Amino acid sequence: MAAPKQKVILRRCSDYNPEKISGIIREGIEAFGLSPRIGGKITIKPNVVFAHHKIAPSAFTRPEFLDGLVTALKARAAGELRISVAEKCGAAIPTVRMFRRAGYYPLRRKHGLRLVPMEEVKKVKVPLAQGQLHTEVTLAREMVDRDFLVYAPKLKTNVLAHGLTGAFKLNMGILCDRERMWCHHYDLDKKIVDLAEVGRPDFIATDAVECAIGGNQLTERGRHLGAVIMATNPLAHDVVCAHILHLDPAKIGHLKLASERGYGSLDLASIAIEGDISLDELRDRTKDWDLGFIHASKLPGNMKVLCGEPYCTGGCHGVFLDWIYMIKDRKPKLWNNLPAWTVVIGEYKGDIEAKRVFLLGTCTKVLGKLKARRKIRIRGCPPKHKTIVMWLFLKAGIVNPMFQPGLILDGYPFYWLSKLRTFFRERF
Ligand code: SF4
Repeated sequence: MAAPKQKVILRRCSDYNPEKISGIIREGIEAFGLSPRIGGKITIKPNVVFAHHKIAPSAFTRPEFLDGLVTALKARAAGELRISVAEKCGAAIPTVRMFRRAGYYPLRRKHGLRLVPMEEVKKVKVPLAQGQLHTEVTLAREMVDRDFLVYAPKLKTNVLAHGLTGAFKLNMGILCDRERMWCHHYDLDKKIVDLAEVGRPDFIATDAVECAIGGNQLTERGRHLGAVIMATNPLAHDVVCAHILHLDPAKIGHLKLASERGYGSLDLASIAIEGDISLDELRDRTKDWDLGFIHASKLPGNMKVLCGEPYCTGGCHGVFLDWIYMIKDRKPKLWNNLPAWTVVIGEYKGDIEAKRVFLLGTCTKVLGKLKARRKIRIRGCPPKHKTIVMWLFLKAGIVNPMFQPGLILDGYPFYWLSKLRTFFRERF
């Protein structure tokens, strides 16, 4: 007998009206028959990897969407609810600051929910029976000790993840910095799929009213899609999202691996798509979108990228593209006039003769002759964005759009304050 089809619901939603969003999600909950299961401790995991009113206004789950989602959960609950919104934002930034910048604090008052910065709360170790890289992960208690888990991703593109951030990739945000950056290189796909063993949502409601497309995963620009996507199976959800963006799911490493490891099929024919907007209509809306996912050596402009081995889509190669796309997203004039650096990533076999050479990543070396007047090396496997932004400012004079007084405060004094809070909470 053929396996039953996984259901994905596509709904039309033209704007960020919380009432309208709540109505759509209420109907979604009913269609999946989830109401009897909604009660007790509910954890919602949104995507707030980064938020800033000026340079990153579009690449996180909007507060209006979260408002609608929480209202819908309350309306369809079978019993008392204790709702926690749990997140760990981008590496080396305190999540509390991103909650504030994302506009989540008024929701705490309105709905009586808890905002949980995962790095600062009590954690538990969870063994992974099928992990290929991780045999154990350290998670916030709210991710483990809960009755119902809701994922609320933002539909967006990501050059570190073969072009797509959906429900599977959201699991990177359940790890704190040390475990998150470990093996964040050519093995990123394995890492993402390992996490699905603990990060399996009961319900997914995706903010695709405005998508974030074509640049850096934090700063890319919004494009109106006008949809809410709902599912219970993360792979079926991501397969449909890939098709919406004209991506082939079989070429998205973590989806292909997830299918091989038994999480479901990549075949669209195995998914029952319902709702009031068709996949074709959504594909028509996105047909001209430039997703920005290219091989690093094909980067246009003054910076020439020489790619050695290994090629790390989820590591230095992707991180470099991601860093330079911040400039494309938010400083187009600078993007067109970037200084002519030769960037080497990985173990490069040829000779290099250039005025200025930038070596990115701990494993990077030039096996041939290297002749250059200026050299910069930034270590890390991969280096954090914060490190690249800072070093390229200090050594090459490139003022990245992230270089904002408020964000420097977030990334340094507030970051250390958050570390200090964590230290005391863990011990006392
Ligand atoms: S240091 Fe080397 S292995 Fe690590 S992410 Fe960079 S290129 Fe990949």
